[in-house]
Amino acid sequence: MARIVMKFGGTSMAGTERIRRVANLVRAQAARGDQVAVVVSAMAGETDRLVNFCREANPLYDPAEYDVVVASGEQVTSGLLALTLQALGCKARSWLGWQLPIQTIEAHAKARIDNIDAPALIAAMEAGEIAVIPGFQGVSDDGRITTLGRGGSDTSAVAVAAAIKADRCDIYTDVDGVYTTDPRIVAKARKQKAVTYEEMLELASVGAKVLQTRSVGLAMKEKVRVQVLSSFIGDGAPPADDLPGTMIVSDEEMDELVEKGLMERQLVTGIAHDKNEAKVILTRVPDRPGAVANIFEPLAAASINVDMIIQNVGRDKGETDVTFTVPQSDLARAQALLEDRRDAIGFNRIITDSKIAKISVVGVGMKSHAGVASTMFRALSDRGINIQAISTSEIKVSVMIDEDETELAVRVLHTAYGLDAVS
Ligand code: ADP
Ligand code: ASP
Ligand code: MG
Repeated sequence: MARIVMKFGGTSMAGTERIRRVANLVRAQAARGDQVAVVVSAMAGETDRLVNFCREANPLYDPAEYDVVVASGEQVTSGLLALTLQALGCKARSWLGWQLPIQTIEAHAKARIDNIDAPALIAAMEAGEIAVIPGFQGVSDDGRITTLGRGGSDTSAVAVAAAIKADRCDIYTDVDGVYTTDPRIVAKARKQKAVTYEEMLELASVGAKVLQTRSVGLAMKEKVRVQVLSSFIGDGAPPADDLPGTMIVSDEEMDELVEKGLMERQLVTGIAHDKNEAKVILTRVPDRPGAVANIFEPLAAASINVDMIIQNVGRDKGETDVTFTVPQSDLARAQALLEDRRDAIGFNRIITDSKIAKISVVGVGMKSHAGVASTMFRALSDRGINIQAISTSEIKVSVMIDEDETELAVRVLHTAYGLDAVS
């Protein structure tokens, strides 16, 4: 007997037929004698639809009321899955975020889970009931509904797995594992048997949306065993325990897999892209101590995350241009904050551009091998792709390019690092 969390994403939950398939997978897992908790997303497209309603109602919406609206998508699917499981003869009930409760900090629309009260849930599971939990939602200390940020159901699933000390957290989605890059962009992308937590964390944070970044960080911290696999499998498919999804593993486990010849050690694990950032250029900023602090302090105070930063070569007269990126959804706020402080900061113009993309190459092999960045720059220049900014970490190189060149850049780099599957 094992204790398993099964998480199903939006595409897997889109409509009665698909929910029935999910219910069959859940029933099969429970029929093996396992205790099962299921975490579900809203139906595909539903959260976008609800976000749009909020924007139409009030462009400067109150995040607390936004949460009330967008959390409803998961309430619907959790109830529907419980009903479908009951129709198949299983004992099942839904546990909404406020009922468990899943306690979060108050930061509406991007809350973080503080605590999950698990004893009642565990008791129900031990009594043979399947627990169905809506992902993405929680409740703040003052009793209001919160949500965890887009893609947050992955984090709900990992947090539930940690709280109930599950043996595994299976993330069922619309692809059958973590690939060397988004398989929807590169047909020759290769599925990975295993990826380390560190690499997955970096890949997710630079745009590989197959797992939400926070879910990977939490899994790493709480040592939750996470597997990514497809829910689009036939009824006769083997159970998840034997399915070849992608396992997220520790460095030591990866070493063992390599020693056994089950994995090859790779310099580059994957390539990711992100079209959700925007570029801001402030021209003619005074080139003196404190100038950049004056720019970034108000942005930090407003919880606006700045990613890439370049301070251009100084101009004449002790002035310089400063370029940086912020999430597109925060661009208008960032611009307004900076305009308000134009005199204090002392810049001339703000130039913005949302038509940019960030392309990142990730791999732990970079720690010990030189040349990864230069291969990237040469491969892009050979195809005439201009690099507008660069940033690096120990295991990642990112470049900012024109958004229209995203797909081409990802394909070119996938080939340049020898990641293409041999057909
Ligand atoms: P869900 O609704 O199940 O949470 P998501 O759409 O959030 O699913 O994530 C799955 C998608 O992630 C895939 O359809 C795929 O297009 C995308 N993706 C991006 N990078 C990768 C990658 N490296 N490996 C697998 N899928 C990826
Ligand atoms: N439904 C939410 C979203 O679309 C959460 C999730 O699916 O993970 O962002
Ligand atoms: Mg997702």
